[in-house]
Amino acid sequence: MHYSTSLENFEILKEEVLARWSLYPDLIDFKLYFTNQWLQSQWSNWKLFDRPYGFSTTNNSTESFNKIIKLIYTGYERGCIHDACLVVEKMLTDLSRSQDNFDLTIKISSGLLKDSDKLKLEDFSFINLNAAYRVANSLNKYYVQTNPKFCSCSKFLEFAVCKHYIALCRLTNQKYEEKDREFVFAKKRGRPAKSKNALAK
Ligand SMILES: [Zn+2]
Repeated sequence: MHYSTSLENFEILKEEVLARWSLYPDLIDFKLYFTNQWLQSQWSNWKLFDRPYGFSTTNNSTESFNKIIKLIYTGYERGCIHDACLVVEKMLTDLSRSQDNFDLTIKISSGLLKDSDKLKLEDFSFINLNAAYRVANSLNKYYVQTNPKFCSCSKFLEFAVCKHYIALCRLTNQKYEEKDREFVFAKKRGRPAKSKNALAK
């Protein structure tokens, strides 16, 4: 379900999965929990198509960032507010001194490049120089586009790059590597925040 590429696709799969779970009495509790927690609550935006391509759906990356702070600055010790201020001061000083920037570029592995090499002109049905279908067994399997970049496969939805996209760029002599990648601000769904300016008078 996580890898479904559209809402329509997801709905079909969801019905199938729930029907299959209903066959097993042992899964009744789990099915109820899953439905309440992950399908009907506000926490239902976990599918790949619910967020910008290649961005995280969880807070795992923030947690690993927190872990580094604990490891380097606080030594896993709990401190008072004053300690926290000193830690923040130290972090800001270190950050200002270091010339490192967060690397936001999309990583393209050699395996992905190799896979994309296998795709040839005959694997695509061109709409124009910017867009094509990836065809397999005479069927249009995925819609691929170079500008703005897009592919309807689940790999692209998860990593913002896939072999179809790279292959299409190569076949049409376009660049597939990008130097700059900007943060995307996804529109929030679900309940709006109760307080907006906690520190404003
Ligand atoms: Zn693709």
